[in-house]
Amino acid sequence: MLNESSVSDLKANLRGRVIERGDREYDEARKLYNAMIDKRPLLIAQCADVADVISSVCFGRENNLITAIRGGGHNGPGLGSCNDGLVIDLTPMKGVRIDPAQRTVRVGPGCVQGDVDHAGHAFGLAVPAGIVSTTGIAGLTLGGGHGYLTRKYGLTIDNLVEADVVLADASFLTANASHNEDLFWALRGGGGNFGVVTSFVFRAQPVSTVFAGPIFWNLEDGRQIMQWYRKFLPQAPVEFCPFFGLKTVPSMDPFPRELWGRRICALICCYNGPLDKAEEVMNPIRRELPSPILDWVGPMPFPALQSMFDPILPKGLQWYWKGDFVKELSDEAIDAHLSYAAKAPSELSFMHLYPIDGAVQRVGQNEAAWSCRDATWSMVIAGIDPDPAKAGAITAWAKQYWEAVDPYTLGGAYVNFMMEEGEDRIRATYGSNYERLVATKNKYDPDNFFRVNQNIEPTSRESEAIAAS
Ligand SMILES: Cc1cc2nc3c(=O)[nH]c(=O)nc-3n(C[C@H](O)[C@H](O)[C@H](O)COP(=O)(O)OP(=O)(O)OC[C@H]3O[C@@H](n4cnc5c(N)ncnc54)[C@H](O)[C@@H]3O)c2cc1C
Repeated sequence: MLNESSVSDLKANLRGRVIERGDREYDEARKLYNAMIDKRPLLIAQCADVADVISSVCFGRENNLITAIRGGGHNGPGLGSCNDGLVIDLTPMKGVRIDPAQRTVRVGPGCVQGDVDHAGHAFGLAVPAGIVSTTGIAGLTLGGGHGYLTRKYGLTIDNLVEADVVLADASFLTANASHNEDLFWALRGGGGNFGVVTSFVFRAQPVSTVFAGPIFWNLEDGRQIMQWYRKFLPQAPVEFCPFFGLKTVPSMDPFPRELWGRRICALICCYNGPLDKAEEVMNPIRRELPSPILDWVGPMPFPALQSMFDPILPKGLQWYWKGDFVKELSDEAIDAHLSYAAKAPSELSFMHLYPIDGAVQRVGQNEAAWSCRDATWSMVIAGIDPDPAKAGAITAWAKQYWEAVDPYTLGGAYVNFMMEEGEDRIRATYGSNYERLVATKNKYDPDNFFRVNQNIEPTSRESEAIAAS
């Protein structure tokens, strides 16, 4: 039971609101992007500034509360919330400040992808990050972050310059390449394990109008397209990032009615190079592949591409997803993909292969917590449907599909494409960086206060004492 006077003190200390069970706003405030996850925290502290975050961390500790950190609330297994504990909700902390001279962007932890795209576009700049405008930039960054600019400019963490952090003991520090380097290393892929990030500084890259959009083929052409794609991608210019999808045409405008509900394979393209070279870059697709059933590739402002999926994937759908890192696409893997794509349980369910080659591979395996620097793709298999009654079917499909293709992958997965899958998967993901992450956790959060995440468990104090004796 929470002490009422300490809750009153928290309310008095915060510039932001504290929402409790029974408050009118409670149900709206606790909602997550994935409606399959229904968590009921005791308190939601909507922090307005760093001082609010410090007070909230103190409150969580003093009251021995399980404490979650919420950025955009997009996490698949709902790790931006918790049951019967405290949510440190950063949603109100939204500022974006561009420094065009230095080409850097300071981003508040409540920002979503679209906030950063919108602010940067006015300056012809973008932070390499994700592909859906509603995704929280904080959780995405701390897990790694990939999207259309990744092949040219690397992961989001490869463009992170600095982060301000409130630690588990409520102290505050800044981590960058020359201060608190161990923490800076761990934040670049290690998720929310080390503290609450209250501000990010990113390098911004020159991006304005891109040549981009979707191309669809019938699923029957899938084998030919996938075999072509596995050869094409590694030698394609890094400015060109076509991701591959096995999907169904959504039964909605603006898609042509005659295609609604049709199973397809797709390349969702983005070329961020000189526009007069775009047709030349696209030529192999047009010359070497069958005629597509839809081709909507053309010049568009980068934020328009980034919001393309928004109407298809609104908040409140049921989601179950699983991922893997993929280096090669064998014929056997392609067979397995095509057989499960043909059995997708809903129109919105998909498999995507996002390229993480190019610039990602130019960073060493141990330079940041994200260790997988030799994969070609980050794969996600997502079962999605609006109807809660289909939760079982989409979950079963995603699990069975994943089991069929997992033998052809590198083992670990992007932490932001995992459900709660246990320690072995987390270890496999971080590989040779895992022990260093544990050592960093021991230093910055030895009591595992921040444990609502893909958790790096600290070594217990007793076992440390035994090891030292
Ligand atoms: C529709 C959709 C599209 C996506 N597209 C992409 C994509 O293109 N590229 C990509 O890389 N990923 C993508 N993702 C995955 C995305 O990166 C994860 O879902 C990520 O967890 C979202 O971050 P969030 O801030 O919204 O999450 P939240 O649910 O708010 O938080 C998730 C976790 O992040 C941590 N966290 C959040 N904020 C902070 C903070 N300030 N300090 C410390 N820890 C924090 C916490 O551990 C928390 O448990 C997508 C997800 C969805 C649902």
